[in-house]
Amino acid sequence: MKHVQDTTTLYNGVKMPWLGFGVFKVKDGEEVVEAVKTAIQAGYRSIDTAKAYNNETGVAQGIRESGIAREDLFITTKVWNGDQGYESTLAAFEASMERLELEYMDLYLIHWPVKGKYKDTWRALEKLHKEGRIRAIGVSNFQIHHLEDLMTEATIKPAVNQVELHPLLIQTELREYCSKHQIQIEAWSPLGQGHLLEHPLLQDIAAKYSKSPAQVILRWDLQNGIVTIPKSVTPQRIRENADLYDFELTTEEVERISQLNENKRFGSDPDNFNF
Ligand code: NAD
Repeated sequence: MKHVQDTTTLYNGVKMPWLGFGVFKVKDGEEVVEAVKTAIQAGYRSIDTAKAYNNETGVAQGIRESGIAREDLFITTKVWNGDQGYESTLAAFEASMERLELEYMDLYLIHWPVKGKYKDTWRALEKLHKEGRIRAIGVSNFQIHHLEDLMTEATIKPAVNQVELHPLLIQTELREYCSKHQIQIEAWSPLGQGHLLEHPLLQDIAAKYSKSPAQVILRWDLQNGIVTIPKSVTPQRIRENADLYDFELTTEEVERISQLNENKRFGSDPDNFNF
């Protein structure tokens, strides 16, 4: 990938940008409106929100004010845990579409694998996909056993699995499994929510290329075939996180960064969450 708008092709032919802009914890209203406009101006074409982020309305306003054409964007949102189930997912989808002011969704994800619910939720996503309302359907926070269980009944397999993934949690087995099944892996909290940026190895590699540790991590994602969605509300950092195309890590550097793995999560464990 050579350009901020380069895409991966999902198994169903839909093109998804390798780089997206995450808006978790970005406040609805001016904060998210300005962040989305800055990101689009910086070249991002993919935006990752969720019903649970309570900022879909502001995301829509940011997109509208940016003046970008709808077909040039790739929008992801997610069905929240309390809305899971067949009918309730259909209703939650319509509500998200209204807040986002969209005619179609690019990617709709099951936010977490809620036990006893996610298969019914998936049937709703399949229906919406077959009707042409959603271009690609996927999941988030699914472990291998969740994917296997889902696929016992699914008629359409997930195109994407968005999971916590960064150099302290490199998700080797899940990535191999998803690759084998042509499920695109997407990294959430790619920067470890900012905790990783002081690491001496990342700082050393960053200094070598006159880049930042954040850029080194995001480059590690891209070179590993991982879609990545860093978040920031600071204009300079939003631009920095998209400025990844004038350097390349060596194979050895990619490997050394992978060796930082500690299977450490900053977020919740998909096998043990209570929300
Ligand atoms: P992240 O790893 O992207 O880290 C964001 C934080 O890192 C920022 O708040 C800022 O403090 C810091 N930062 C960002 N760019 C920087 C830079 N260039 N230099 C220095 N510091 C910088 O964390 P995140 O927001 O948790 O994850 C990214 C996105 O992933 C979210 O916004 C959301 O869209 C998605 N996400 C999804 C789930 C899920 O369950 N599916 C969970 C969490 C996040």
